[in-house]
Amino acid sequence: MLAITNAIIVTVDDCNAVIKDGTILIEGRSLAYVGPSDCVPCIPAGATLIDCAGKFVAMPGLIDTHNHSSLIRGVAENLNLVDWLPVYDLEHRTCTPQDARQAYRLGYMECLLNGTTTVQDMYRFMDQAAQVAGELGIRAFLAPYAADMPPYDFFESSEANEQLIKDWHGAFNGRIQVEAGIEDVFYAGETMYRRALDMHEQYGVRIHTHGPEHAEEETTARKRFGMSIIELLNNRRLLGDFLSLGHCVPISRHDMELIAAAGASICHCPVSAAKLGCGTAPVKDMEEVGINVSLGSDGPIDNNSMDLFQEMKVASLMQKVHYADAKAFDATHMLRMATINGARSLGIDGSVGSLEQGKLADVILISLNHPSLRPVCWNDNDSTTLIWALVFAMQGSFVDTVIVDGQLVVRHGHLVTADEQEIIDDAQRQGVDWMKRRNAAATHVLAPIRD
Ligand SMILES: [Zn+2]
Repeated sequence: MLAITNAIIVTVDDCNAVIKDGTILIEGRSLAYVGPSDCVPCIPAGATLIDCAGKFVAMPGLIDTHNHSSLIRGVAENLNLVDWLPVYDLEHRTCTPQDARQAYRLGYMECLLNGTTTVQDMYRFMDQAAQVAGELGIRAFLAPYAADMPPYDFFESSEANEQLIKDWHGAFNGRIQVEAGIEDVFYAGETMYRRALDMHEQYGVRIHTHGPEHAEEETTARKRFGMSIIELLNNRRLLGDFLSLGHCVPISRHDMELIAAAGASICHCPVSAAKLGCGTAPVKDMEEVGINVSLGSDGPIDNNSMDLFQEMKVASLMQKVHYADAKAFDATHMLRMATINGARSLGIDGSVGSLEQGKLADVILISLNHPSLRPVCWNDNDSTTLIWALVFAMQGSFVDTVIVDGQLVVRHGHLVTADEQEIIDDAQRQGVDWMKRRNAAATHVLAPIRD
């Protein structure tokens, strides 16, 4: 048993309860007790004890619901999405299993150190992702980057996706979940969408794909298909509670109603949307029609970092600006978006996403020993200023301890499941090599998709 005592616990339960002096008991993979320290059942003598002495916050691990691992960052900058995509494709045209492996090692390490305990990753050669996630200890939903329309058929195939399901779905006590992944309606044809639905029906896996990202894509879709991207997905029977959609920035009320009626989720990626000139997604409207909206980093290639604490802050600020409403997207709202809403996007809100007895133990501890988090003050009703610090003053590097599925994977700000320096050195070597191959391919950049 692992006992975390004298912690401030931000539970993110249905009442958003915060426990001023709390204890968490972890038995195996599960939370055996989450509650006030003065009501705690007796802690067995052999338990491993982490005494927080009132100087650490415990909260659910963050859930990054839209990510693309990569070793390529700081290139393909200053480009709007539609011009950016063919430049981004260069890395996929030159990607090897070894490139992907080092991308997963570096990326999942970055996620864990920043307090992200679950990642939904869409990338290549994902048998490598399953192995790396298994080794490092992160919870991973793997959606192969699949495309079948020439000239984009250098991405993953439906056959490779199905093999990945057979080989890895449910591995490591269910910590690895494989999904049917599809790039988007411009990269994948009707057959590939049908195959994704078949995999969902045959293996019970979820589906992850891109919704509309930039207004230019919507214009092209209307010209090419005579309808919006969401309407096309609806025609292809993709909309359902088994689907999560990345982005969805340009989106009509009608599209939102289709998504809400189907029970599908949207993975909102504000930093990526801003950097690629896509604009601000109308998240308040999405939520008003009843859509579950979670957060995603979109990965290092267009975000440059994977710190969901920063993502929460940017997301909130962009919505406040978009709606000219200071009351929109307060700290409690953002904490839910980065945790329980993420779990709902992945269909696992019954088992992770909040700190409640019986759920799986995905817990992070944040050190309060940082000037921007102090002072912590309490009101009579036990509400605290700390909630605002966790969203607007927090950095991922303040995360001290990360527990996933009951296993300690980060302690005192360092990975305990692998050698950090080795991961960084390997990524540096592989990244430089990959960049050379990628740059050599840059003599033949594909034309942007623009009808
Ligand atoms: Zn994406």
